[in-house]
Amino acid sequence: MIYLDNAATTKVLSEACEAAAYAMQSVWGNPSSLHRMGIEAERLVTYAKKQLLSALGDTSGDIIFTSGATEGNNTAVFGLCKVYGKRKKRVVTTSVEHPSVAQPFQRLKDLGYEVVTVSPDKNGEITADSLISAVDDNTCLISAMLCNNETGYILPISEAFAEIKRQHPDCMTHCDCVQGFEKLTVSAKKLSADVITLSGHKIYAPKGIGAMYVKKGVRLSPVFFGGGQQKNLRSGTEAVPLIYSFGKAVEILTPTLKQRFDNAAKICEYAKAKLNEIGAVVISKDSASPYILSIAVPNIKSETILHFLEEDEIYVSSGSACSKGKKSAVLKEFKISDQLLDSVIRLSFSFETQTSDIDALVDKLGIGIKTLAKIKR
Ligand code: PMP
Repeated sequence: MIYLDNAATTKVLSEACEAAAYAMQSVWGNPSSLHRMGIEAERLVTYAKKQLLSALGDTSGDIIFTSGATEGNNTAVFGLCKVYGKRKKRVVTTSVEHPSVAQPFQRLKDLGYEVVTVSPDKNGEITADSLISAVDDNTCLISAMLCNNETGYILPISEAFAEIKRQHPDCMTHCDCVQGFEKLTVSAKKLSADVITLSGHKIYAPKGIGAMYVKKGVRLSPVFFGGGQQKNLRSGTEAVPLIYSFGKAVEILTPTLKQRFDNAAKICEYAKAKLNEIGAVVISKDSASPYILSIAVPNIKSETILHFLEEDEIYVSSGSACSKGKKSAVLKEFKISDQLLDSVIRLSFSFETQTSDIDALVDKLGIGIKTLAKIKR
């Protein structure tokens, strides 16, 4: 099996599996309980928090565990607007966000906020200047992702947010770092982010766990109301096994970030050269994250290619897993031509991906290019 869909989800590290099992079988108390079992469970949560904060380089911040980045993004957007958007009803985002940011902004519009959406320019670039100039004194929030999940495009967040904070200290900054965390350097301070969202299952931890980093002093309004866990920001008993597992994955991954990045860059360059030889078109920019390589196989439908590769147990994605075969509005925003739009597939790598995996992909794809039915235009 050759799995090249790691931006959709990843295989859980065995150490992270063991951590979850340990918490389920040996430390299964409720972290809110006052007795010893509760305190032991709380210790696992505290350990995971420390791992995440230290990976993000800001131990003075806080971590709120969520069910994933969808909940984290919703909580960040609505939670910040509730506190900071009482008088300032203007918010800024980009047109390439994941639906878990784009949809909450749509909802903000319905609630009467003025929503300003920054789009890539004619070259498919979102410049720091375009983000900076979209924010004014009446803006309570800007939310922009670090790395796009469909193309690997890296947005100039550090540059933009630092200047936005300088010009408008009261404007809150949120960054969806799901596709960046543990792949690119994600430093909370360098990003000048008030809130960062993360997801476990993109970094070899289980599905159903995510986290929000909240900078010291930043206030959020909860979306859930209940028992008041996690400083009243996310009521509900903490998912200790998932949290501990997430912490374990972060502890293991953080020291190897550079080595894994270099390996992904090598794989990505190798794939680009090989794919070029068989007539596939590289969509991702040279400056994109090396973990995501978006390509197009002209005149063959994405889904046809996906299922053709699947015959040999080679797994890729058509656009992004979330768009489930629909034409991607985000790729259009990146100015991918209509001709190629139907033919895009996304390859995404893990630390286990090898050049032999790319060879197998290219061999099969080469056969597909010769034999598959072409789209009639
Ligand atoms: N943001 C981005 C950039 C993503 O790629 C994803 C997952 N596709 C999410 C948010 C949502 O994460 P989760 O699956 O943890 O809800």
